Amino acid sequence: MMMKLLFATGNRGKLREAAEILAPFAVIISPAELGIHGEPDENAITLKENSLIKANYFRERSGLDCFADDTGLEVDALGGAPGVHAARFAQDIARRDGLPIPPDHDFSANIDALLRELAKHPGEPRTARFRSVVTLLLGNRTLYFEGTMEGSIALKRNGTGGFGYDPVFIADEYPGQSVAELPEGTKNEISHRGKALRAMALWLQENGYDK
Ligand code: IMP
Repeated sequence: MMMKLLFATGNRGKLREAAEILAPFAVIISPAELGIHGEPDENAITLKENSLIKANYFRERSGLDCFADDTGLEVDALGGAPGVHAARFAQDIARRDGLPIPPDHDFSANIDALLRELAKHPGEPRTARFRSVVTLLLGNRTLYFEGTMEGSIALKRNGTGGFGYDPVFIADEYPGQSVAELPEGTKNEISHRGKALRAMALWLQENGYDK
């Protein structure tokens, strides 16, 4: 029988991506399907710790084997910011500038903040990368898998696919378009989380969990 794995996320884009990659190995369940709502405070300073916080939170509430990812965006001209703070970048900038604080999970406000901050660095490279750490809690084991996607930040938004910063992220592998313009399967082939999840899938396969 195929194993069941809870993906510790409320992000539908992430759930779709993971279901596509992991379909041969596991049935992916979301917290919402189990009636588990709420989310932990991701207050650690590394992706690894934050993804472990998320995985533990949902494992405690579900009792299921569980994985979580935490993703950061490192923009070179901004000294590696927003980094682990990618989900709260607009809020951090608003706080710094004494402006009204946008709501949580406001992707559009985050993109606006990123484009505005980068506009202060004209002529500098706009190179950037996404970095994901996936934590898998399987029985009493804790396993980590990582992936990165190199690219650069566009001058403006393009495309409607994906989520988060995808409309302004141009992957090195597909320089003519934003990640939000790529078919989902193509994003999964090259993305930070796609790579980390495939590493996890390989581990599951090598360890007999795909039977
Ligand atoms: P988290 O891992 O959900 O905390 O993600 C941190 C931030 O990065 C959030 O603002 C996400 O929207 C964004 N993010 C995560 N993964 C992706 C992606 O694949 N593409 C674009 N943005 C992403």
